[in-house]
Amino acid sequence: MRTIEIGKTGMLVPQNAFGALPIQRIPLEEAKTLLQNAYKGGMRFFDTARAYTDSEEKVGAAFKGIRENLYLATKTKAKTPAQFWEDLETSLSKLQTDYIDLYQFHMVDQCYKPEDGTGMYECMLEAKAQGKIRHIGITTHKIQVAHEIVESGLYETLQYPFSYLSKQEEIELVQKCKEYEVGFIVMKGLAGGILSNAKAIFAYLYQFDHVLPIWGIQRQEELEEWLSFMDQEPALNEELKEVIAQDRKQYEKDFCRGCGYCMPCPVGIDIPTSARASILMRKMNPAIWGSKERQEVMKKTEDCVNCRTCVSRCPYELNIPELLKKNYADYLDYYKDVIGGE
Ligand code: SF4
Ligand code: SF4
Repeated sequence: MRTIEIGKTGMLVPQNAFGALPIQRIPLEEAKTLLQNAYKGGMRFFDTARAYTDSEEKVGAAFKGIRENLYLATKTKAKTPAQFWEDLETSLSKLQTDYIDLYQFHMVDQCYKPEDGTGMYECMLEAKAQGKIRHIGITTHKIQVAHEIVESGLYETLQYPFSYLSKQEEIELVQKCKEYEVGFIVMKGLAGGILSNAKAIFAYLYQFDHVLPIWGIQRQEELEEWLSFMDQEPALNEELKEVIAQDRKQYEKDFCRGCGYCMPCPVGIDIPTSARASILMRKMNPAIWGSKERQEVMKKTEDCVNCRTCVSRCPYELNIPELLKKNYADYLDYYKDVIGGE
C-alpha cells in the first residue's frame, strides 16, 4: 500500500482510510473494537463529523492513549462564529484531544473566504493560531463551489464525492487538486451504496496517487476487505474493468447519490431513501426493504406536492418528483407479493 501526503499538509498516511459515519449505528464497544482493528490493520486517518451524532465520542474512546499515532479529522456545519467555537470545543472534548489534525467546514454551498462578512474563515485561522486545529479543510457536493475552493488557495484539503461513476468534470476537479496541491479526500467511493465490488472500487481510485479514500465502515467484514488491500492492492485488470464498464452502463443515467442535500422535504418524504429504492432494495437485505416501516417510508412519496424545493437544492439537478414516482412504482411491483399479502 502506497503512503501518500495529504496535499501539502505533511500528513503521511496509507491510501486507505476510515470514514466514521456508519459507526453511529453500532454500540460503543463494537465501534471501539472496529476502530482499534482498523488502526491495528494499518489505517492512520479517521474522519468523523460533529453531525454524526455519537461518532466523535466513539472515536475518542477508541483512541485514548494512542491519539498521537494517528490523524483525526472532523467537521462543523456551523454557519456563525459562535456555532463554530461551540462545535470545535465539543469536538475536542468528545474526541478526548486538545487538537484536531484536520478541521473541515461540512457540506458547504459557499467557499468561505477572509473578509466575506461571515467571519467563518477567520475562525479557522484563529483556531489554527491557538493550536486547536492543525489544518483547514472543507467538504462540498457542489462542483462549482469545489472549483472555487481549490482555486482560492485557502483550503488544504477538499472532501468531495468521487467514484468510478464520476463524470469527466469531476475527474478534472481531482486533477486540479493535484495541480494546486490540495489534498483530495474521497467521500462516497461506493457512490452512496450503489457500488459493491470493493476490488473494482479500490483499483479505480488507486490509479490516482494523490487521493485519499475514506471508506464508511460499519462491520468487521467490511473492514477486513479494505484492510486486505494493505498488503496487496487489487490491480485494475480486464475483469475489474469489465465490472466498471457494466456498472457505468447501468448507471449512465442520473441517479441519486444519497447526499441528503435536498432535505428536508416539507411533507416529510425521505428522499435519499425513496429515490434510491430501485437500486438498494436489490442489493440489500430484502426483509428490511419489504418491512412495514420501509413500506410506510415509500408510501410517503405519494404525498409529494411537486413544490420542487428539493430540485432546486440537488447538486445533480435530478428531477426528484419523477425519480420518486419511478422508484415507488418499481418498489410496489418488486414487493407486490409481500405488500399484497399483508
Ligand atoms: S417536490 Fe415533492 S419531494 Fe420535493 S420537496 Fe416538494 S414535496 Fe418534497
Ligand atoms: S436527490 Fe439529489 S440531493 Fe437528494 S439525496 Fe439524491 S443526489 Fe442528493
